[in-house]
Amino acid sequence: MKSTIAAKPYLMHNTVQNYAWGTRGETAFIPKLLGKKPEKGVPYAELWMGAHPKAPSEIEIDGERCGLDKLAALHSEAILGKMGAEKCAVFPFLFKVLSAGEPLSIQAHPNKIQAETLHARDARHYPDDNHKPEIAIAISPFTALAGFKSLTELSATFATYPEIAEFLGEAVVHKIYANKDESQEKQKLALKAMYSRFLQRSETHKQELTNAIDALVKRLQTKTGLSSADALFLEMRDQYSGADVGLFSIYLLNFMSLQPGEALFMQAGIPHAYIKGNIIECMANSDNVVRAGLTPKFQDKKTLMDILTYESGKVEILGDSNKEKKTIYKAPVEEFVLSRFHLETGDNAELKLGKPAIALLLNGTIKVNSTNGNEIFHRGQSIFFPACLHEATLVAQEDSLVFVATVP
Ligand SMILES: [Zn+2]
Repeated sequence: MKSTIAAKPYLMHNTVQNYAWGTRGETAFIPKLLGKKPEKGVPYAELWMGAHPKAPSEIEIDGERCGLDKLAALHSEAILGKMGAEKCAVFPFLFKVLSAGEPLSIQAHPNKIQAETLHARDARHYPDDNHKPEIAIAISPFTALAGFKSLTELSATFATYPEIAEFLGEAVVHKIYANKDESQEKQKLALKAMYSRFLQRSETHKQELTNAIDALVKRLQTKTGLSSADALFLEMRDQYSGADVGLFSIYLLNFMSLQPGEALFMQAGIPHAYIKGNIIECMANSDNVVRAGLTPKFQDKKTLMDILTYESGKVEILGDSNKEKKTIYKAPVEEFVLSRFHLETGDNAELKLGKPAIALLLNGTIKVNSTNGNEIFHRGQSIFFPACLHEATLVAQEDSLVFVATVP
């Protein structure tokens, strides 16, 4: 490719992933955002913006569409900047819109060292040697399971749900209760003992797990005033028969409800499952997921057991549902930082660039002013800013909502 990268904003062409849990028909969010008619029966799960080799975004160079992954390799300094080119020479983050009509699998992501080991051992199931810390920002009311409950809450859960406690067995249930006020380290050990036993027994005592699940279903069917977790458990039981470990996991994790603007950061080794709603997601450039439960996809309980960090208690909610002009979502990672701009007609927002950035226009119309002139972008469009562009200004042509992902 002899062409060069100009210091200007580029309109991006992105891939939509049609995973089965995506939203469909009238409720499909992604086609609505893109101004397209949803195809009948097709689930719209994720819109990928970035340079992941599985579905790299494209930009137009001299009238020809080129993948951002190839461009980042060929023109690393112009695309990634000097630091980026020296550090990794691959695009640092993957930016997504995710629209869950049904729950995703219970999962966790490996850290960098674990990812390298997993990829070397099983490249088919772990396609990347990179970690995948991720941030999820709600853009509609959003529910998720995230992180283990505190040991105090787990003790209460075992009292309310004897079906789960009996399957786990007296010893590990008692260990949770006995360690609830002990040191962090002791709490982790008790939690690891409990969850490892759960995953192991789900393999060796499948029939017992199935019976315990069915016993709980039967009891809940006669109960009034079901909790959100109960409702989810019953809904998922209809979909996943047999000894699915995800079903009881619903009761072991924090059930969280987020309002638009609020966010969850998922560090390596934290179990989670996104249940319902639309989010903006940003992660290190990786697709490594270790799954156990609530999925027809490949599950790897042994690896999940090994990579979990066994932290417990509520996961912190970042950001807020206020319409501040600018909100920065700072995650403790070097690959990405996200900002949200609520701009009213005529409002300006300065972007300090000099590093790769992607802006997604969730609502409204904006003009982007930069050294090479200006250009108008509309709702649903995403814009790539190469590192060779040092600054740009977003000018709202009407009330606009913009998310910008870049490198901190
Ligand atoms: Zn995840």
